[in-house]
Amino acid sequence: MKHSEIMRLIGLVDKLDTKHYNQLKAVIEKRDSVKFVSRLLNDDSKNISCPYCKSLQLSKWGIRNDLQRYKCKSCKRTFNTLTGTPLAHLHKKGRWLSYAECIKKGMSIRMAADKCGVNKTTSFRWRHRFLANETVIKPKVLSGIVEVNELTFAWSDKGSRTLKRKARKRGYGASKYIPSVMKVFSLFCRDRGKNTFDNVYHKFGAERIKPELLNLISKDSLFCSLDKETYLKYTRDNKVRHAILSISKGELKKKDIVHINNILIYQNKLKLWMSRFNGVATKYLDNYLSWFRAIDEFDFRIKPETILLRAKRPEEYNTNHFSKQSG
Ligand SMILES: [Zn+2]
Repeated sequence: MKHSEIMRLIGLVDKLDTKHYNQLKAVIEKRDSVKFVSRLLNDDSKNISCPYCKSLQLSKWGIRNDLQRYKCKSCKRTFNTLTGTPLAHLHKKGRWLSYAECIKKGMSIRMAADKCGVNKTTSFRWRHRFLANETVIKPKVLSGIVEVNELTFAWSDKGSRTLKRKARKRGYGASKYIPSVMKVFSLFCRDRGKNTFDNVYHKFGAERIKPELLNLISKDSLFCSLDKETYLKYTRDNKVRHAILSISKGELKKKDIVHINNILIYQNKLKLWMSRFNGVATKYLDNYLSWFRAIDEFDFRIKPETILLRAKRPEEYNTNHFSKQSG
């Protein structure tokens, strides 16, 4: 575009009525947002490797849709910074940051769709993709005093078109009165460094939790829980140091530093946060727990940019997804 044409265009801005000014403003904001997100994603590619063969020998290979493309010198394939990540092939980059803000605020799919001007199907897909890595970003080791407790959730087929059982009345909370066949359990472990591990189980017992806990809890840790048979059996069988707090004696705090207050507070915050969704489908429970864990990790101050960058970490992503993707 010639300089004179640009100056003429700028001169016309003052003559626009409110409606057309707002239209122009929306176009500029959208463009700014696309550029901002693209820059954020491109700048995060400093140590990028080939997603196909992991080679670091790459050439820059032009820019498409504002994203830098690369060509691998080993396998000759081309890709961009999103290839092989949960964000690959998603459109409307200009709205991603605003969607990440909705995730930070814990908005429902419908609310986030309205806020970002996308339909409900897109909103659902984006939430799933933006949070896909969070289900696998869990601490590998907990140490020191490790507080452990579980939560019970009522089984929910919310959103399912076909129920395999008779519909039940609403109103089951996560109480011990839920028939066992309709329960699902989540284990929570948290150390004093605020590292939190959680996992969902359809049945709960020492043998069920053992595979995770053996690797997760470092040998010199102090396992701290209520005196429930599952935990007692686990720590006894595996010779883990165990500070047992008695429910019957109301002994939630044994010594000054030996307690499970942190995990109880975490669980209460989680239940309060989840109440906005009016029940979640059991098949997505792990996703919600992971979503909350990510928010809690940043004390509820996670930046939308951080949500995007965590979502594009290919090393966290399930390789089964990646095998279906290219470019
Ligand atoms: Zn390669």
